Amino acid sequence: MKAFKYILLTSVFVFLSFITAMSLFAGVGEHNASDHWDYEGEGGPEHWGELKREYCKCKTGDMQSPIGISVTEKAKMDDIIFHYYPTPLKIINNGHTIQVNYDRGSSISIGHRRFELIQFHFHTPSEHIIHGKSYDMEAHLVHKGEHGELAVIAVLIEEGKENAFIKTLWSNIPKEVGKEHIVSDVRIYASQLLPKNTIGYYNYTGSLTTPPCSEIVNWFILKSPIEVSKAGLGKFTSIFKHDARPIQPVHGRVVKESK
Ligand SMILES: [Zn+2]
Repeated sequence: MKAFKYILLTSVFVFLSFITAMSLFAGVGEHNASDHWDYEGEGGPEHWGELKREYCKCKTGDMQSPIGISVTEKAKMDDIIFHYYPTPLKIINNGHTIQVNYDRGSSISIGHRRFELIQFHFHTPSEHIIHGKSYDMEAHLVHKGEHGELAVIAVLIEEGKENAFIKTLWSNIPKEVGKEHIVSDVRIYASQLLPKNTIGYYNYTGSLTTPPCSEIVNWFILKSPIEVSKAGLGKFTSIFKHDARPIQPVHGRVVKESK
């Protein structure tokens, strides 16, 4: 009986040690992988919500972006008024996209609301899908309101004629990842990224399309696309083959369309 008890206790001890060791191991593995989100593989969009507790909205949120836009509600909406000014070029390859950081002082106003332009960056292919159509790229002009809420203007981009503005950006992409490159002798003007017609747009409430997927974004997707040359598109896709999150469930949200 004593021997049996001894064997039982030993087995329990060995089992518990094994479990502890395994969980420590798993913990270490988790830690190594946790910071790294990506657009494919283990760090890909379907796993973002599990990589870190702060990323849980990517999985549990019900107002996520991007979305496929098909059913809309036509409404009389305020025009977006752009108060953009030139700024010295500050460009970074952050490992996920090419981002241009904008100096303070440029903004948009929509009705009585005002949002300051912080940065813009690019995705390929487009993140939003409009009536089943995916575009070659999508630019996001990110603006911050006074309470930290975001208004993002999305500009759809399709292959076509050369775009001098994008060409200037691409010729200044830093080689080093994660380091902002300040090109003080090149001034850029964000208005050059906008289509001629900014009156037509879609509007809905959603989230960041990258972790932590925070549901704080008022999206304005301009209907008129702009163009980029085949070479311009190729230059971006040679660095980022695919940096677009798949479309997310609409969950009853209403997409408004300006008349
Ligand atoms: Zn974006």
